Amino acid sequence: MNYHVLTLFPDMILQGMHTSIIGRAMEKGLLTLEAVDIRDFAEPARKRRVDDYPYGGGAGMVMQAQPVYGAWEDTVARIGRPVRCVYLTPQGRPFCQETARELAKEEDLILLCGHYEGIDERVIEEIVTDEISIGDYVLTGGELAAMVVMDAVSRMVPGVLTNDQSGVDESFSEALLEYPQYTRPEIWHDKPVPPILLSGHHANVDLWRRQQSILRTRERRPELLKTAVLDKADRKYLAALQEEDQHLVP
Ligand code: SAM
Repeated sequence: MNYHVLTLFPDMILQGMHTSIIGRAMEKGLLTLEAVDIRDFAEPARKRRVDDYPYGGGAGMVMQAQPVYGAWEDTVARIGRPVRCVYLTPQGRPFCQETARELAKEEDLILLCGHYEGIDERVIEEIVTDEISIGDYVLTGGELAAMVVMDAVSRMVPGVLTNDQSGVDESFSEALLEYPQYTRPEIWHDKPVPPILLSGHHANVDLWRRQQSILRTRERRPELLKTAVLDKADRKYLAALQEEDQHLVP
């Protein structure tokens, strides 16, 4: 996967991405990252300025179409073929694990970061293939959102996670949240690890984890259960939980 981030703050992107699992994946060549400075494409007379006042008045500044277009055009020319261009915006479709999985299939991705009040709509219409939001709140710029997307997408790229970091059992992998995790020591602040995890009985551990996963999802994100992949045993467990609830009603 090759990421090409169009941004006003290239250092923020480069510094933020070169650590831990993602940093190691870059060293191994599984991922590449370039941060393209949109200011390099400002009109010469504007001396690296890329924002201007909004037509119609109102607060703040707007990023001009031409420098963004120039950065995109240069990047596509270097890649040598059309690629998806994702604009990070609070107005986009909500980002989720399914979208991460889908984007991970691409060989190259252009990520466009806005700033100020956003970007002139005309260039968005011309170059953007996907608009993605990382949540219902407004950030000062798209850089953190681009890093969130790249982090989640990279974990889906084959080879980035080693076997013991596998994403298979994780939250959202089957529209369920993950079971609780424990590590040493066996007792901490008088709290023991659930005994089943020390039993060495793999089938029972798997069953316990599966049930914890269902229980957690039901408690914290019940709407996910509508699309979760559940087998007969899972549905039986869910039905038992519902029956238990009914007995608790006075
Ligand atoms: N005026 C814009 C609006 O109301 O839609 C918000 C502009 S915001 C201050 C500046 C930039 O931050 C946006 O162009 C976008 O790139 C990024 N951004 C802000 N919130 C975001 C979010 N929730 N998800 C993704 N990107 C976001």
